[in-house]
Amino acid sequence: MPERALTDWVAAAERLRWPAQLLVDGARRPPLDGETRALVTPRDGTELARVPWGGGEDIEAAVAAARRAFDEGPWPRMAPSERKVVLLRFAELIEANRDELALMVTLEMGKPIAQSWSIELRAVLASYRYYAELADKELDEIAPTGQEALALVTREPVGVVGVVTPWNFPLTLSAWKIAPALAFGCTVVHKPADLTPLSAVRIAELALEAGVPAGVLNVVPGRGSVLGRRIGEHPAVDALAFTGSTAVGREYLRYAAESNLKRTWLELGGKSPNIILPDAERDRAIATAAWGITFNAGQMCTAPSRLIVHEEIAEEVLDGVVRACAGYRPGDPLDPATTMGPLAAIERAAAVDEHVDRAFAEGATAALDARGGTGAYYGPVVCSGVEAASRLAREEVFGPVLAVQRASDVDEAVRLANDSEYGLAAGLWTRDVTAVHRISRRLRAGTVWVNCYEEGDLGVPFGGYKQSGNGRDKSRHAIEKYTELKTTYLQL
Ligand code: NAP
Ligand code: MG
Repeated sequence: MPERALTDWVAAAERLRWPAQLLVDGARRPPLDGETRALVTPRDGTELARVPWGGGEDIEAAVAAARRAFDEGPWPRMAPSERKVVLLRFAELIEANRDELALMVTLEMGKPIAQSWSIELRAVLASYRYYAELADKELDEIAPTGQEALALVTREPVGVVGVVTPWNFPLTLSAWKIAPALAFGCTVVHKPADLTPLSAVRIAELALEAGVPAGVLNVVPGRGSVLGRRIGEHPAVDALAFTGSTAVGREYLRYAAESNLKRTWLELGGKSPNIILPDAERDRAIATAAWGITFNAGQMCTAPSRLIVHEEIAEEVLDGVVRACAGYRPGDPLDPATTMGPLAAIERAAAVDEHVDRAFAEGATAALDARGGTGAYYGPVVCSGVEAASRLAREEVFGPVLAVQRASDVDEAVRLANDSEYGLAAGLWTRDVTAVHRISRRLRAGTVWVNCYEEGDLGVPFGGYKQSGNGRDKSRHAIEKYTELKTTYLQL
């Protein structure tokens, strides 16, 4: 990130011009019923802007536009190499507006500016560039049918894709869906999270400027239970790509079941275990465990929220993790030196508190309780002696709250790790390369991070086992979500 002081970012925030309209069918326009809502920043609880708050009729218009753009428009019919050029231009515009977009995310949901700039926006750029480049590089297949036939197996875009996303990595998680959908010729209706609506509209404005045709990317902010549901139930939407909670994911399966059986792709919650074995590189394991639960103020689907530590080293690790967590104090997200920001909304503090109070009531011990900030500012909590059956060990908190459990051997560690309805990710710390592979094979999780956490690259798939979802974002595997396979069988 370029050298910039807090005062520079504050000045930039004051100059910021927020989008004031929806983006439907290539046009900026107010919601059909004219409603707006306040956009409030968790930084200090003040109003940033008015959000054009869409209603059901706006979704109807957006789906109709996306349908038309898919059925009749140029986008799905363009050569993939032409879509690539447009999407690369889109990425250039995102890069040119990186400061503004990073600032919007930070103000909307409180992520520290340094992280918005270097982590969130880096991932967004990587995503658009990766799928732009992939658009004209995937080959189709000819099946080995023998001499008497020719069978072509080709990919076609699935059609109109509904994209519904959360607020914790708002631009990244949206880009993981929108980029491959657009690259492979689909059209999109995006309903961003209530807390992060305007950065999403701004992205779509840049897409339009880059030459993405009207109707191909439509963005309508508004209430999930109204707009998301409308998209989920819509007979003209062919596929739905959702990231959010497991409870809402379940609703989307119901919407699909009760409408047109649209393909429903879900990236859901997690309660990820992080196993530290006695031979681990102790200092790094401890520092990463603390960083992991405070990163993004704990609001990570992949947060390493269950620390499972071998009892031989349990005291030392717990002491270290408590000390390291105590070093994270939530600060002003506009300060480039801040490493932990506030929660994404003031109301979230009470929700996180409920989890912590219940954990203590269920017998957990407060190894660290650094709550007690004002507003959305919420310090880390470390709970030790957390029973496997307790709610803290089973439920996602989405805040900086760590549950520590002890295991007497590797088998118990694996059993505890897998004792969850979730299966999004897991961490494993050991220097024994055989143990790495043996244990990693036993962990029921979409990603196993070994001697690291939250590392990644656009080239690796991301998604969950069990109730953490289905399908995969990122990598070539994401193509599956946005394409249909067609067999054309020719008897010679
Ligand atoms: P959420 O409450 O499930 O909301 C996600 C999206 O769904 C929002 O746009 C929301 O709209 C919409 N929605 C809410 N209720 C709905 C309903 N009844 N019908 C249709 N749509 C509805 O999740 P969140 O609080 O924004 O985000 C936190 C959750 O996301 C956590 O569970 C986290 O684990 C998960 N997550 C998963 C991943 C992953 O990749 N696996 C990544 C990040 C986050 P509103 O904004 O109006 O509520
Ligand atoms: Mg919500």
